[in-house]
Amino acid sequence: MNAVEIAKELIKFDTSGPPTQEQPCAEWIRDFLDDIGFRTTLQVVEPGRANVIGKIGEGKEPGLVLSGHIDVVLAGDPDLWKVSRPFEPVEKEGYLYGRGACDMKGPDACMLQVAQDYAKEDYKRQLTMVFTAGEDTGGWFVDRVIEDKLVTPAEAKYCVIGEPSLMEIIPVHKGSGGADIMIHGRASHSSKPELGINANQKAADFLYELRGLQEELNKEKHPLLGSTTVECTLMEGGFKANIIPDQAKLTINYRLIPTHKEPEVSKGWFTSIIEKLSRNDPEFKAELTSHRASNPLDVPLDSEIVTTLKDILGTEPVGEPYYTEAVSYTSAGIPAIICGPGSIDQAHTPDEYISLEQLSLGYKTYKELVKRTCL
Ligand SMILES: [Zn+2]
Repeated sequence: MNAVEIAKELIKFDTSGPPTQEQPCAEWIRDFLDDIGFRTTLQVVEPGRANVIGKIGEGKEPGLVLSGHIDVVLAGDPDLWKVSRPFEPVEKEGYLYGRGACDMKGPDACMLQVAQDYAKEDYKRQLTMVFTAGEDTGGWFVDRVIEDKLVTPAEAKYCVIGEPSLMEIIPVHKGSGGADIMIHGRASHSSKPELGINANQKAADFLYELRGLQEELNKEKHPLLGSTTVECTLMEGGFKANIIPDQAKLTINYRLIPTHKEPEVSKGWFTSIIEKLSRNDPEFKAELTSHRASNPLDVPLDSEIVTTLKDILGTEPVGEPYYTEAVSYTSAGIPAIICGPGSIDQAHTPDEYISLEQLSLGYKTYKELVKRTCL
């Protein structure tokens, strides 16, 4: 089977959600890999939901992981689908249509065709294929693959995830995070504001300082990602038009470059604004009520996986702001990068499609990559 034929088979499984049922699709991939001589594991993570892992060249040197997810986002209003039904793939004028064509059953299919092509080869280094449930639809079950040690750094030096990137090489992306700030005032009738402390006005003071923080952060730029950004994305304050509000809550969302990845760094920004305002204004009272920060992806640009793909594709790596499974692999000791056919612009849309040209480029690139890294 070629990648287009494999992609069509995968698209026919409705793995959309939530609620999502990936297991029948995972079983199809397991059977495909079994038939060509991979040793496979179907990891059922919840009823009807499963990851599938296939290995060849076990016991050899650590090699490569090729990885993709098999769940897809909901198809939405069926009337908006004009070229194909969501789970009835159509090939037309150089494009393959269907839910997941681009994100990312098309890319998965490129990997599976390569597995099939090289099934009879003598592997010098191990090749591992991982197809996960719950990437786009809730669950993040890649972490179960890692927790259960179904792939380890002893088996794999690097991982490539085929998320649609138009075959751009993405070794870095930002981390994300969020914080809540509760600002305390004192209620009074709005005709006597001098008896109260207006929490909304104090929140404005905080936001003014946040702007200053952003100006500071803009001074530090990652070569591919630019600067960390910090935005107040939600605010709530007050409960009645004629009462001075006694509470305001600010929700902050941030996207972190690698030098800001330690949670203490972003936490420090907000606590020092609170300290500064409290020092200058005895009526300013606020606290950081929640805080979280997830790791950026930060695979060195001179690592072997990046230089090998640069050589195959003849392009330079780029950075992206969105978050992927690559962080899970990298944190587990298997540096992972994103490089997959298709454009993220066509993901999650009605009449989702991928060009056959991109599928072919994806297939040829993975084939050369496996040849250079595992054979
Ligand atoms: Zn995806």
